[in-house]
Amino acid sequence: MINDKNSKKIVDIIQDFSRRHSLFVLAYGTGCGAIEIPPTMTSRYDAERFGIRGMATPRQADLLLITGYLASKTLKRVIRAYEQMQDPKYVIGFGSCTINGGMYWDSYNTIKILSDYIPVDVYINGCMPRPEAVITGFIELQNLIKEGKANGAQKYKENLEWYRENQKKVIKDWKMPDYNW
Ligand code: SF4
Repeated sequence: MINDKNSKKIVDIIQDFSRRHSLFVLAYGTGCGAIEIPPTMTSRYDAERFGIRGMATPRQADLLLITGYLASKTLKRVIRAYEQMQDPKYVIGFGSCTINGGMYWDSYNTIKILSDYIPVDVYINGCMPRPEAVITGFIELQNLIKEGKANGAQKYKENLEWYRENQKKVIKDWKMPDYNW
């Protein structure tokens, strides 16, 4: 007989399974690595067989994919897009530029470490990462979701002041709505 506790567990398992196998991606093509997204999502590598597909707007997306270097001006749009996404939500930083600035490490107008500004659940290294690496990154995120460890959004809420301080150091004309989750 299934009691309340067990049925809750079963619901959680089904919910969790569905969530990680229906990741809708908002691909923010900030850098040259974005060119690897079309082959990843189309018939050659076919990311949709893992339940991963593109989505047009932040409110419909679960996963924000930042594909490369991020100019200081673009950061504001990325933060706005991230904050418009509904929970549960995840971020993948794609390419060396998101990890340490990559070849733009000493550029005056790009940010260097993406996770100083928004929470990153998985990084995919390489310049530029091939579709195989991108798919490996997607699978890593699915495994983290399965283990309950893809908790970047929670971290963002808990440390919002720290993120805001970093964001405002770069974005001088802030004028953004409050983050309302
Ligand atoms: S990691 Fe390489 S391919 Fe990706 S945005 Fe930076 S320079 Fe371009």
